[in-house]
Amino acid sequence: MTIITNHMPTAELQKLDAAHHMHPFSTQNELAAKGARVITSADGVWIQDSEGNKIIDGMAGLWCVNVGYGRDRLVQAAARQMAELPYYNTFFMTTHVPAIALSQKLAEVAPGDLNHVFYAGSGSEANDTNIRMVRTYWAEKGKPTKKIIISRKNAYHGSTLGGASLGGMGGMHAQGGLPIPDVYHIDQPNWWAEGGDMSPEEFGLERARQLEQAIHDLGEDNVAAFIAEPVQGAGGVIVPPETYWPEIKRICDKYEILLIADEVICGFGRTGNWFGSETVGWTPDIMTIAKGLSSGYQPIGGSIVNDEVASVIGACEFNHGYTYNAHPVAAAVALENINILQEEKVVEYVRDDIAPYLKQKWEALADHPMVGEAKIVGMMGSIALTPHKESRAKFAADAGSVGYICRERCFANNLIMRHVGDRMIISPPLVITRAEVDVLIERAVKSLDEGMARVK
Ligand code: PLP
Repeated sequence: MTIITNHMPTAELQKLDAAHHMHPFSTQNELAAKGARVITSADGVWIQDSEGNKIIDGMAGLWCVNVGYGRDRLVQAAARQMAELPYYNTFFMTTHVPAIALSQKLAEVAPGDLNHVFYAGSGSEANDTNIRMVRTYWAEKGKPTKKIIISRKNAYHGSTLGGASLGGMGGMHAQGGLPIPDVYHIDQPNWWAEGGDMSPEEFGLERARQLEQAIHDLGEDNVAAFIAEPVQGAGGVIVPPETYWPEIKRICDKYEILLIADEVICGFGRTGNWFGSETVGWTPDIMTIAKGLSSGYQPIGGSIVNDEVASVIGACEFNHGYTYNAHPVAAAVALENINILQEEKVVEYVRDDIAPYLKQKWEALADHPMVGEAKIVGMMGSIALTPHKESRAKFAADAGSVGYICRERCFANNLIMRHVGDRMIISPPLVITRAEVDVLIERAVKSLDEGMARVK
């Protein structure tokens, strides 16, 4: 058997990869034909591939490497914990120090009385936990009919059966018989694509009021919770009109349903506050966390719940758990990651320095002939590509996916940007410098110009 190393020729690595490795959200045959890009190392906001290209990572991996790559403190935290206690579980009346310390720290940084953490290995698993937790909560309170969770179309909440069901991605629901029962989706607040003749303000209210209508239609006695990302990420960084969140909050305050903020992307500084729900002005009953919790250095997620939910769940045996709940190495790394965020004042840096700088540069992209709206909240931004800004027109189907074409140009120009249809998105590491933002924007403009030349 061949020993596989970073020093093998790229083509050989690609061939072996395609032969045995099935990739997520990919067409395996296309991957086999083209060959995957092989990433070999990373530092700060830069990743390097097997051809020696230095690429600026405008997506922080998958929206997760908040403190940037190459953090020796996180390496040391993992090594120390590996040596001391590489694994033990927290089932059956046991615990360990990394779980205790991380939970205390999360209770400190989370808003309001969100003081209790149920861990998972990922954001998807944590959302599965949430489904079972909110239904158990209502059953324990003597309201077992309250089972339905209202979510939004084009939301992303993960890839497990539960996570993908909560999510509103048509392509995911089309495979494997989803969604599971008792999940209901209202429309998303995407004014650019769906606002028609309404003003953004009218549209924001119309979309928020769909929640109230859904509660009426489904019956308040049957609705357990509403789940939302404070800013939809994988759906294309959809920033709702200003009227949207206050109206959602009014509705949630009026009805007896739990509010779940999926903070998997928005948490840990991405929007300029510790959590995205703080940025949009509401306090949830439950928060889903993952990604920035460990800056992606270890797989870990969880649900942070408030005192009320914890007290109700705490009174029963909650028959739910994962082998890797509060994995000690992952927990130790997550704790050290939060220490870095605090000690280096990364959230303050985002809020007061780098996000305002990026915003100014990002919003200027709206002057590009192919860019309609340019939206940004903290360190997550999107641009909508269009052949005609005034009418917010979409590209003709035979133009190919213009977003895909532009993403390929970004790759060629050593910039990682993602596309969702004809929306281009960024979510760079939070520690990116102003000079690196300039490089990112320069490469984005070049890629858009080249993309436009290929479309026309
Ligand atoms: N929730 C949101 C908002 C996400 O963006 C994601 C992943 O992108 C998830 C949940 C799922 O997290 P994971 O991929 O860790 O399972």
